[in-house]
Amino acid sequence: MAVIIDSLSGPARPRHPEKAHRADSPVLRKPDWIRVKAPISRGYAETRRIVKENGLHTVCEEAGCPNIGECWEKKHATFMIMGDTCTRACAFCNVKTGLPGALDAREPAHVAEAVAKLGLSHVVITSVDRDDLTDGGARHFAETIAAIRAATPQTTIEVLTPDFLRKDGAAEIVVAARPDVFNHNLETVPSKYLTVRPGARYFASIRLLQRVKELDPNTFTKSGIMVGLGEVRNEVLQLMDDLRAADVDFLTIGQYLQPTRKHHEVVRFVTPDEFKSYETIAYAKGFLMVSASPLTRSSHHAGDDFARLKAARASLSH
Ligand code: SF4
Repeated sequence: MAVIIDSLSGPARPRHPEKAHRADSPVLRKPDWIRVKAPISRGYAETRRIVKENGLHTVCEEAGCPNIGECWEKKHATFMIMGDTCTRACAFCNVKTGLPGALDAREPAHVAEAVAKLGLSHVVITSVDRDDLTDGGARHFAETIAAIRAATPQTTIEVLTPDFLRKDGAAEIVVAARPDVFNHNLETVPSKYLTVRPGARYFASIRLLQRVKELDPNTFTKSGIMVGLGEVRNEVLQLMDDLRAADVDFLTIGQYLQPTRKHHEVVRFVTPDEFKSYETIAYAKGFLMVSASPLTRSSHHAGDDFARLKAARASLSH
């Protein structure tokens, strides 16, 4: 049995103690269409330097994202606020689980500084789940948005939030800070929640997205799932309908990749043609924007996608 050691931060220790007892899951060979750029460019090194200098965490590193070589070369990083330790233990996720430390009150300013240094026209801010905080971290999100607005008013801001389960008023706090895009990922179809996302509730996530739209119809809403976790096609189509019923604008669909053998297995590699078909159907169901491909991640090309999203909404009003 392999033990996964956390080499990203601090002294070596098991990164996923809650998963250590699990049997190793089988590993499928990656198909030809899963090809990623090696993280060796000068832009990558520069992005890494700015992230480290500001003492920040990124989901790019913590989640072991396959697109890091490409994104960081262009200085696109997704900041993960409120620490590197999550109160949930989802079966797909590589972020460390445990009891997180206190919030760092200086973090919003440090994020804003890094956004300015990287010269970002669009930034994605995500976080670990903070079930230990009474507001789930909503105020910290709002403070981070405010700090970025103050430092670089031209930067558009996308938040990718936890589900704020049982945190009444959290959505209101984040929406009041006026992010341009509010993203919350469903991650998978409802039948897989107990094994893939056990701490979450599918309809609570749908309701969060719906609530955001009710609170501010101008905010773009976005959600994403991974496929290849054992879901069936009809379940994905039903999920699309559920998101459209909540008035969600933008859907992302990408291939699940297994971070380690202790994580959920990749049941299947979905073919590029199947992704294309999902995209076509999702557009037919009324999403303003859809990104569906093996390496689609919710923050991948988020800046370009935001420009296309705005253009798509504008074309509807003409
Ligand atoms: S796709 Fe998102 S998480 Fe992955 S490297 Fe790019 S910005 Fe980071």
